[in-house]
Amino acid sequence: MRIDVLTLFPEMFASPLNFSIVKRAQQRGLVQIALSNIRDFAKSSYNKVDDSPYGGGAGMVLMCQPVFDCLESVQKQDSNSGRVILLTPQGRKFDQQLAKELSAEKRIILIAGHYEGFDERIRIGTGAEEVSIGDYVLSGGELPAMVIIDAIVRLLPDALGDEDSAANDSFSDGLLEYPQYTRPEEFKGLKVPDVLLSGNHKEIDKWRKQQALEKTEKQRPDLLDKHKKSEK
Ligand code: SAM
Repeated sequence: MRIDVLTLFPEMFASPLNFSIVKRAQQRGLVQIALSNIRDFAKSSYNKVDDSPYGGGAGMVLMCQPVFDCLESVQKQDSNSGRVILLTPQGRKFDQQLAKELSAEKRIILIAGHYEGFDERIRIGTGAEEVSIGDYVLSGGELPAMVIIDAIVRLLPDALGDEDSAANDSFSDGLLEYPQYTRPEEFKGLKVPDVLLSGNHKEIDKWRKQQALEKTEKQRPDLLDKHKKSEK
């Protein structure tokens, strides 16, 4: 898989892309991540990429030309022009379902905005789909891009040591994950449930399923309703 990010701040990605699962996935050739600086495509004086909004108002708006030129140049680097995603708080809410969908793509291109956001013609003219990581406003699309990359990469085949660990994660079957325990068997008077020490895998599976249902009902009843509908 190839992931491109168009950003004004490629340096921000140095740390998140160079640790743990995402780093290993790149080293093992499961994913190639390419960063492009939108500012490199600025044509106006002082490498200007933003300007004040027509009609007045606070802040600056990302201009069309540098973003369009950067996207065109990036798309040309591969025969697959990719699924283009504009990161904006106004888009489809990113979730595990969308992470799964995107992890099956051969190429995605994430465009990170900044300042007051994009000139609307960037959305219209590129035909990009809009994706948000939640109902809050961040200063730029860099953190959302990192969140999306991490969520996608861990779903790539062989990215995780144990294939099961992604399959059992919260949201993968519509429920929250069951509670996990590790050594010691007792800590500050808190004991590991007996069933997990029993070695009876049928009983352990049953307990985990029940716990996942109870936890989801308590903490995310909205998910349980959806799960029940899809089970039916
Ligand atoms: N004025 C815009 C609005 O009210 O919708 C917000 C602009 S925000 C300060 C600057 C950039 O950060 C956006 O263009 C987008 O790329 C990114 N961004 C901020 N919050 C985001 C979110 N929740 N999901 C995805 N991207 C976000």
